[in-house]
Amino acid sequence: MEKVKPNISRRSFLGLAGIAGATAGMTALAGCSSSEGAGDAAPVEQAPDNVSAIKPLPEPSAWDNEVDVVVAGTGSGLVAALRCAELGAKVVAFDPAASWGGSSKETDIFAVVGSKYQTQLWEAMDLTEMGMPGMTLADMFDASMGGHDEATMKAMFRATYLPQPGGSISTASGSSSSSATGGQAFIAQGHVETVDALLDCTADVTDWMVEKIAPYGVTLGPVTAYSTSGLLFLCPVGAEAGDFVARTNYTAFEALYKACEEAGVQFSFSNGVTGLVADETGRVIGVQAADGSFTKASKGVILATGGMASNRDMLARYCPSLYNGCFNSTATMNDDGSGIRMGLGAGGIMDGFDSANCFDGGIQTDNFNHYLYKGDVQFARNVPSVFNIRGERVPWYSLYSIGFTDQSGILMGQPGGYGIAVADANYEAIMNESTEPICRKPITPEMCEAAGANVERLPEAVCERDWRIGFQQGLDGGWIVSADTIEELASKLEVNAENLKRGVEQWNATCAAGADEMFGLDPALLRPIEKAPFYAVKVNGTILNTWCGLACDWRTGAVLDASANPIPGLYAGGATMGGSSGIGSLGSTRNPGGGVSFAMGTCFNAANAVMGA
Ligand SMILES: Cc1cc2nc3c(=O)[nH]c(=O)nc-3n(C[C@H](O)[C@H](O)[C@H](O)COP(=O)(O)OP(=O)(O)OC[C@H]3O[C@@H](n4cnc5c(N)ncnc54)[C@H](O)[C@@H]3O)c2cc1C
Repeated sequence: MEKVKPNISRRSFLGLAGIAGATAGMTALAGCSSSEGAGDAAPVEQAPDNVSAIKPLPEPSAWDNEVDVVVAGTGSGLVAALRCAELGAKVVAFDPAASWGGSSKETDIFAVVGSKYQTQLWEAMDLTEMGMPGMTLADMFDASMGGHDEATMKAMFRATYLPQPGGSISTASGSSSSSATGGQAFIAQGHVETVDALLDCTADVTDWMVEKIAPYGVTLGPVTAYSTSGLLFLCPVGAEAGDFVARTNYTAFEALYKACEEAGVQFSFSNGVTGLVADETGRVIGVQAADGSFTKASKGVILATGGMASNRDMLARYCPSLYNGCFNSTATMNDDGSGIRMGLGAGGIMDGFDSANCFDGGIQTDNFNHYLYKGDVQFARNVPSVFNIRGERVPWYSLYSIGFTDQSGILMGQPGGYGIAVADANYEAIMNESTEPICRKPITPEMCEAAGANVERLPEAVCERDWRIGFQQGLDGGWIVSADTIEELASKLEVNAENLKRGVEQWNATCAAGADEMFGLDPALLRPIEKAPFYAVKVNGTILNTWCGLACDWRTGAVLDASANPIPGLYAGGATMGGSSGIGSLGSTRNPGGGVSFAMGTCFNAANAVMGA
């Protein structure tokens, strides 16, 4: 069949790649986590102020264990542990959680640009079913970008994150708000080296990982849930995002864990690192764990302890946009900044002020950690009639159009830092007819049944298999309110009743007109709010991960001191590293490596550096 060569310009390709950019920010497409049900252990012991630097301990008189490398954290830390082990190191990995995975096991999609493996996939990927008969994805890249080799793809993405000649910004995300947040974040940072290093390491770690997980029957394939641009993303084959939405990447991390065990990595769970040990020169030579034991690390310590998404006090200091604009965190409870505080104590400095990734769906529950897929969150995310305390309509965008982080910024930027999602007695129709992708998809019993064995990777204790259960819990808990009049609804929410009433009336007028001149919402979503009882929930951002953390060398993961000199023996990877997204902007900052692939790539770099590879 003759191949059709569409006329796709670079600009329109980038538009297509909108979600790629959004996720390249990545922030993820789905997923969730919460310690609530995920079985994580209590947070590591912290100083009473919960924020200050944790000073290293002096060398103990005796060590309980002696290894080459200590890895703190078993999310992307699994990559660091396995890489060090395969390079011949004796490795022990600590984690305060009862099991491996951290937030990394909660993720759905690896955002990768230009790995060798991915290039092969593109060449094999037939786009006929996507309306481009006889074309492969590689053909499409050739037509739009002039090539599909690793260098071309990296150059394209590099350009999307850096200032262009003439001063304009072109980000990987097609949406204007993304341009503002993503582009400016990088201009503020302005580091070509940062972007290049992140693109390189995520591509490298992907090729490495594909090889490591193959013996366990896990391969990665393209994710097709978001138009062709989705093919920039990978996830384990058989666990595709369009199937059962949560924890798609789980099987890949499970395979990495098994590979670690086989390579002889020792694990110590329910036993976080509580302190670094340094010698009199300041070199980090080991750690103390929560059980009081000391482990010597002759080559180095890699901090892969995640960020500070669940430490409100650290957020207030380092991430004030999140402190003020996020009702909750969907990262694990152990994302408590402990590793960052230890790095600061060893002489490290912070990088990436106020920089993080959020989704919409932050709601005021009885627990700061709250799982993204719960039904109350899904209600808050799917209702398109949202108002602020002035009674103005808050834009609501489909994730298909705006990506995964921008809606959080819109909500966080409202007066008071939140919006109010309002629905009437027909709220079930909104949920049942939702066409939202991935993490906004309301979970139903039918979806779970269709998922077969895939459903088991998300235990019921972590998330109910029917969104209605979580919705009811919200009503029972009082964070979703119900009333027979809008005035009463406003009173329960403690917001201005006249304003909310006016907002609802204007919404109803828009519904009656059948066209949304203000924001161009799909007419199918214009449902009037007229039939009691009425329902409402305050909504803003929920934190996925923070990007502010320890300043590091991008290529080695070496933790840097105030003079930008490496602190001997100390390395970091993943969300423990800061500055990958420059300064922040209402939770919508971008990272060209994607959240989890960035985390893995930087851990891969750190392992290579510790081992001198
Ligand atoms: C719900 C959710 C969904 C997401 N979906 C995606 C997605 O689809 N794609 C994407 O790219 N990104 C996604 N992200 C972001 C992504 O999860 C993170 O960017 C990435 O996983 C961070 O990896 P990490 O290794 O730094 O942290 P983690 O994976 O959280 O690992 C940190 C580990 O360190 C442990 N730890 C904490 N303190 C200590 C200590 N003192 N000592 C030892 N261990 C410690 C923790 O228990 C944890 O196991 C998502 C995030 C969330 C919360």
